[in-house]
Parts: sequence; structure tokens; C-alpha cells
Amino acid sequence: MNILENVSNHRPILIQGAMENEIDVLIAALQNLEAVTIHGFEFYSGLVSDTPVVISRTHIGKINATMATLIGIENFHPSFVINQGTAGAHNINLNTGDIVLGKQIINMDAPDLDIKALLAGIDKKTSEPLNVELQKDGNWDWTYALSSSEELSSLFQSVPYSHGILYEGTIASGDGWTQTKEGVRKLHERYGSDCEEMESFAVAQVCEQSGLPYVVLRIISNSNLQGTTFDERTAGLCQNFVIDVLKNHPAMIQK
Ligand code: SAH
Repeated sequence: MNILENVSNHRPILIQGAMENEIDVLIAALQNLEAVTIHGFEFYSGLVSDTPVVISRTHIGKINATMATLIGIENFHPSFVINQGTAGAHNINLNTGDIVLGKQIINMDAPDLDIKALLAGIDKKTSEPLNVELQKDGNWDWTYALSSSEELSSLFQSVPYSHGILYEGTIASGDGWTQTKEGVRKLHERYGSDCEEMESFAVAQVCEQSGLPYVVLRIISNSNLQGTTFDERTAGLCQNFVIDVLKNHPAMIQK
């Protein structure tokens, strides 16, 4: 099935960002803007280069992202979901401004912890990710890793991006910000992750269970490994790239 064939003028694309500076450029690009708040979550509908979209502020963290995604799906019946925003690098070769497309999206909040070892102050380097129960293709199953739709991912990869590299990789998602180099190195070792952020696995899980295609993209805004701190401008670059994708594929995205 061609996902993009599902898209009609009546089914918008749900485009998400957690923080205000992760949705402001998209909102500024909206024509015929209408704003609505549902259970505290802000949604802005309108057109971006003639494509119907709903911009959603998920707020920070996986529980907020879960709520915002379900509310967005139930109320706006999107054709697919784009989750975008900033992330911290887990891969030393990734620089501020590079974009990671989520080929794998990992749930970092379910490690198989050796609690005894942890309480004794011994770090258990071999700790494996723990599968969580979730529904995929209509069946309850166990996994800790999900994937963006290949079709949407290729669509994004076909658009030129000039502020860094566009890289298909692994995004680790958890309710925390890893503060130390050592911590980042351990997570990278455990998950093979390229970056970390705090919402995308929740979004992916809700979309899987709702049978909706989704794509996750994250721009590197900070890197403990390179010693760089949060660069706010990256949030705008990521949104501009999403707008470029909509501009480059009008015929494919809206039927
Ligand atoms: N910079 C803000 C806090 C941002 S909280 C402040 O200091 O007030 C983290 C948000 O940015 C989340 O939405 C998350 O998805 C994203 N993020 C960016 N870099 C991150 C990192 N290194 N670790 C975790 N989340 C990160």
C-alpha cells in the first residue's frame, strides 16, 4: 500500500514538536491558522505550502507525548505523523545541525537493570534493554525498538539539507537528559544509539497501535561527547527542513 495515497485534503499531517521553539517556525509558516487547546495540549491547524497540517506541541517527556499523540489522532484523523525536534548526540561523529532519521527508535526507559548491583554501586555494563509489551500490526507483542515508515523516510532523504548531514540512524528515547560523557558512552554501547531525546518512542508506540505511519527526525542540538551545549537555532533548522519536504513533495503528500 502506498501510504501517501491515503493523504487527502481532509486528512492533515500531524507535525509534532515538544518545546515552543520546536514548533514556532512551522506555526509562522501556517496559512489559515486555527488554534485549539484540548486537555491542555495546543494544536494549530492550517496549510503549509498548500498541504493541510496540524502542528502539535507535545510538551516534554514520553507521557506528555503519548497524550498529545492520541489526542491529535482522535481529533484530527491525520494521514501520518511527523515527530521532529532536538536531540543530544550519542555518536561522537555527529555534529550540531546534523539530522538523524529514526530507522530505529529505542525505548531507553526499560533497561534490564541488575538492581542489586546498582544498589551496591556497581554499574552493570552488560545491562540489556527490556522488551515492553505493545501492539504492532494488531497483535500484542514484545519489543524495545520501533522504526519510522520506510516510505516516509525515503521521502525525507530525497530532499537536500544544507546545514549538516542527513543520516538514517538510531534514536534513543527516554524520560531523562544524560548529563555526563561517561553516561552517554554507556548508552551508546548498550543501544548503538546515535542520539537521545525524550518523546519519539512514545509517539511511535501510539502510532503503531493506531495503525498510522510515522517518521521521527531529530536534529543534533548538543553533544556531551564534543562538549557542545544546547544550540537553540537547531530547532528552527529542523522545522525549516520539514517545510522544505512539504514544498518538495506537494503532489505526493496531498492527493
Ligand atoms: N533546554 C531546555 C530543556 C530541554 S528538555 C532547558 O534547559 O530548559 C529536553 C527536550 O529537548 C526534550 O523535548 C528532548 O526531546 C530534547 N532534547 C534535546 N537534547 C536532549 C538531550 N541531550 N537529552 C534529552 N533530551 C534532549
